[in-house]
Amino acid sequence: MSNLQNNLEATRLEYRKVFSETVEEISSTVDSLRPDIVGDIFDDFEKDSLGYGWQKRVLKFLEERLKEVISDKTGQISKERDKCKCIGCGSCCRFAVSEFSPSALQIKAENGDKIAKEFIKTFVPYNSIEEAQKVFPEYIELLEEEGCSNYYIYHCPKVTEDNRCPDYENRPKICRDFPDNPVAFLPLKCSYSAWKLKSKSVSLKLRAEVEIIDFYIEKLKGILNR
Ligand code: SF4
Ligand code: SF4
Repeated sequence: MSNLQNNLEATRLEYRKVFSETVEEISSTVDSLRPDIVGDIFDDFEKDSLGYGWQKRVLKFLEERLKEVISDKTGQISKERDKCKCIGCGSCCRFAVSEFSPSALQIKAENGDKIAKEFIKTFVPYNSIEEAQKVFPEYIELLEEEGCSNYYIYHCPKVTEDNRCPDYENRPKICRDFPDNPVAFLPLKCSYSAWKLKSKSVSLKLRAEVEIIDFYIEKLKGILNR
């Protein structure tokens, strides 16, 4: 198994571990708010009972917690990102990877997906994997090693020979925000690799907290609004 495959497997295992720890943490916080009653947070309690009050308290607490978690962790991630400086290698303009085909992106854009809309305005697909491979052979290898099979590769036709954006000041938001996720694919040469490495664990924790808290919130809202 290659180092990259090992890394990918290690990320999956790390997320599983972070997810289980976070389930434990949230469940013990929910329990600490429990009144002196028997039952589960997702039970059908009578309206105005102690259990019903517990569910309302937990919902309020988790809604606030979710806002704090998002603001705190995204703040940490962007603070670290600001410490890196783009070296202008142009890889992100010439090698944009998406799990969506051009026609799927078109449908998403027509259905109002803003990111898809901006993506198809900015990038065009390579005619074939082979064409992309000629430009960045090492990245195709990287994607294959990472076990990615369903992907499409795009490039921006505007990037200049010397890797400049002809309208840098007015570049699309999708370009301004890159890279925005420390767990996503990053071109090998990208100077944000140190940031990716440092922010990965914060990002995994954020993802787990958002996923679990969202689950509680949606379930509790369904019970309280029945
Ligand atoms: S619009 Fe500019 S920054 Fe964005 S991908 Fe094209 S060349 Fe790069
Ligand atoms: S791949 Fe990274 S270093 Fe290269 S131009 Fe894009 S953001 Fe800058």
